[in-house]
Amino acid sequence: MQAYIAPLRLRLDGDALVSNWRWLAKQGGAPDCGAAIKADGYGLGAPEVMRRLMTAGCRDFFVSNWGEALALEPLLDEGVSLSVLHGVRAEDMNIALSSRARPVLCSPEQIALWRDAGGGPCDVMIDTGMNRLGLDWRGDVDAMTDGLAIDTLVSHLVSADEDGSLSERQRARFTAMTMQVAARRYSLANSAGICLGSDYGFDLTRPGLALYGGVPRKNAVGHIAQVVFPQAQVLQRRRVIAGDSIGYNATFTAPADMEVAILNLGYADGYLRGFSNRGGVIVDGVRLPLVGRVSMDLIAIDVSMRPDVAAGDWLTMDYALPGAAEASGLSQYELLTGLGARFDRVWA
Ligand SMILES: *Cc1c(COP(=O)(O)O)cnc(C)c1O
Repeated sequence: MQAYIAPLRLRLDGDALVSNWRWLAKQGGAPDCGAAIKADGYGLGAPEVMRRLMTAGCRDFFVSNWGEALALEPLLDEGVSLSVLHGVRAEDMNIALSSRARPVLCSPEQIALWRDAGGGPCDVMIDTGMNRLGLDWRGDVDAMTDGLAIDTLVSHLVSADEDGSLSERQRARFTAMTMQVAARRYSLANSAGICLGSDYGFDLTRPGLALYGGVPRKNAVGHIAQVVFPQAQVLQRRRVIAGDSIGYNATFTAPADMEVAILNLGYADGYLRGFSNRGGVIVDGVRLPLVGRVSMDLIAIDVSMRPDVAAGDWLTMDYALPGAAEASGLSQYELLTGLGARFDRVWA
């Protein structure tokens, strides 16, 4: 049987992924640089992201839950570590105990579960200001973690992508923890934290967003390359007569006769309605605007300038993450993790 070719695909630049990781590894100033590959590698496909980064030398991976860990564990190289950021629930315990992955224990209750079950090496999350997961840095963390074999003591920055004093305060709180709690390694910085400077590096950094082409702070501009290029096939080319509208609710009216290409991409694929009358494609370096509203499965592009664009052609969306975030009102994270299941994911 002939293999199905979807009318939409993600072109994924494997060299850009690896060069982003190398830049972050160097910039972070820590001996080790890991990778956050939760949410299916931020939408790219976690198995292939992990395989490529392992080949590049990455030895530490982070997912959110045990479903993700179960899927990736068989693909782990010898000596590569996988951590589960949400720790363990009672219903995870059998899976966790027989897994090579480590839980990042996040509360006294989780620590008690892990201890009672006779669990082995683990990571521990310290809350230094997020008030999300982790042991409160003001508590008696030393006593709470007594007897655990801690591989990596972790904390997470609240707003490293912004200026302000909170990152520095979190760094100071975490530094105090490193003197109080024994662990093999200490880890604080995400992508934006890496860009704050090597003071934030400790022993291990944990970038996610910037691996995939997200630009967390200005000083990463020019160093982080775009990895994800959504492409959609032209289903029809049509002429729109002056005064006619395009798409649902007639939010765009043709000011003059024009030509549009109808593309197989919509909000059900994660190309959300914020791109209505604001998105675009790039053809030979020139941006052609999206006109009208984004539908569930379709969009229209003004191709009046390009008589050569025809049904069956593939067009590449304007999806450089900082600009696309500004155009759509979505975060760079949402632009990646929302990319749906209907894309073929094609690594180049
Ligand atoms: C998601 C996550 C990361 C990666 O963060 P980015 O901002 O994507 O670089 C690092 N650490 C923890 C605990 C996370 O949840």
